[in-house]
Amino acid sequence: MRILDNLYWYREKGPFDANTYLIKGDISVLIDPGLRAYLELRFRELEDDRIDRIDVIAVTHLHPDHYDAIIAMKEAYNAKIALHISQSQYRNVMIEESSRFFGMSFRHEFHADMDIRDTLKLSSDRELRILHTPGHSPDSICIYSPDERFLITGDLIFDHGIGRTDLPFGREADLRDSIHRISMLNTELLLPGHGNIIRGRAAIESNYEYIKRFYL
Ligand SMILES: [Zn+2]
Ligand SMILES: [Zn+2]
Repeated sequence: MRILDNLYWYREKGPFDANTYLIKGDISVLIDPGLRAYLELRFRELEDDRIDRIDVIAVTHLHPDHYDAIIAMKEAYNAKIALHISQSQYRNVMIEESSRFFGMSFRHEFHADMDIRDTLKLSSDRELRILHTPGHSPDSICIYSPDERFLITGDLIFDHGIGRTDLPFGREADLRDSIHRISMLNTELLLPGHGNIIRGRAAIESNYEYIKRFYL
């Protein structure tokens, strides 16, 4: 579903899936391919939106509800996998611990075709800013567009909620600090990894207020 000129949202398909976002530019970037079980549905949604090219696949963090379909998606579109340096650093332990925690095995024979640090270029005059925002997991990132003022938050914050910190390597103090940092950004469209998106600066501000009052 198209939500801005160059931005698409594919809502999570079940309780163990995640929201997928696609950003169009000279290169098209897909964020969080979600669970493998829903891949056919995602392909259909992308097709309905006439998305026939994905150049780069990135993830907000390496929990299986966000990355499980990454290899199949890469193969289908001949895309590059872009991992934040913290994701490459924690990749093996994150995947092993998730498998143990959820009692199922997840594929991990993928690696970064390109590294992400502070920015991801979409075209000569447009880039995404990458913020390392640990807390829910040590490899969590948020993706911010300074031009379109959207913020993809993964499992850091949601509509009236925050990410859990009881999963392996979760850390509450880091989560607090990360939420504080992203709340300083001028955001018009908040795009969490689960649940609803939030439109408009005022609604986003009041969501931060709610979170600070009830969770932090
Ligand atoms: Zn997560
Ligand atoms: Zn999640």
